[in-house]
Amino acid sequence: MSNLLKASSLLSPIAKRLEGKVAVITGGASGIGEATARHFVRHGAKVIIADTQNTVVNSTSTESVSFVHCDVSNERDVEHAVDTAIAKHGKLDIMFSNAGIGGKFDRTIKSLDSQDLKRVFDVNVFGAFYCAKHAARAMIPNKKGSIVFTASAVSAIYGSIPHPYTASKNAVVGLAKNLCVELGKDGIRVNCISPHAVNTPILRNGLGMKEEEVDELVCESANLKGVRLEVEDVAEAVVYLGSDESKYMSGVNLLIDGGYSTTNPALI
Ligand code: NAD
Repeated sequence: MSNLLKASSLLSPIAKRLEGKVAVITGGASGIGEATARHFVRHGAKVIIADTQNTVVNSTSTESVSFVHCDVSNERDVEHAVDTAIAKHGKLDIMFSNAGIGGKFDRTIKSLDSQDLKRVFDVNVFGAFYCAKHAARAMIPNKKGSIVFTASAVSAIYGSIPHPYTASKNAVVGLAKNLCVELGKDGIRVNCISPHAVNTPILRNGLGMKEEEVDELVCESANLKGVRLEVEDVAEAVVYLGSDESKYMSGVNLLIDGGYSTTNPALI
């Protein structure tokens, strides 16, 4: 086979980039996590969806996808999700620590609700810690693995509201920076993704945004007018970070924002 033909078969859209991999996806019942579960399965991975809501993921076979009830703020639940991956498939290759909540849409520090702050940190930060801890436990013996956290462009890169959500997403970025050093010694890569706004239930239910506000936010990318970020675009970034194609990527916070962060639109 010529080199060109070999190359074109590598680039085939149906190439399975995660063949033989086993993944846990937290928050995999909806939005970004659900899309990522579908893409992982299409690329040949076995997926354990760990979520508080038991939604069946469409167009996937039960052999490839299983569901475990998991509240990521409860360490035992996360431990159980990882143990399920090992019991069913013998190992864990990819932990996509993606479950997150928005919290109350309080704009000021004066109206901060400490219960809300605690809940957001319990899920978004403690949940990420538990995912990393139990993923590391499973991956270290194999000297290989990929952990991906979902941070946020709007909140972890630019700074935004509400404060607890923004602080929680910055905490996750910091955790990934530390872990990529610690776990790199065991062949485990740790990265974040930071998507810009994408239309999922969290914007309406979690952050209390109105439909027109969601639309405005999703359409605001400065450099790619008229192009909306879709959950599929985010899922493909996670496929890349989970696959061996990204074997030298670690400690990165991969921004998926259409270039929004690079320019001040007011100056162009
Ligand atoms: P979503 O609401 O569609 O999905 C969130 C999922 O997390 C749901 O399935 C929900 O049941 C699950 N979940 C919530 N609390 C949980 C818990 N304690 N334990 C386990 N599962 C739990 O929203 P999404 O946009 O797909 O959110 C996924 C991640 O992406 C979140 O971390 C969110 O902060 C982040 N994010 C979203 C956007 C956006 O604009 N939608 C942008 C950047 C980052």
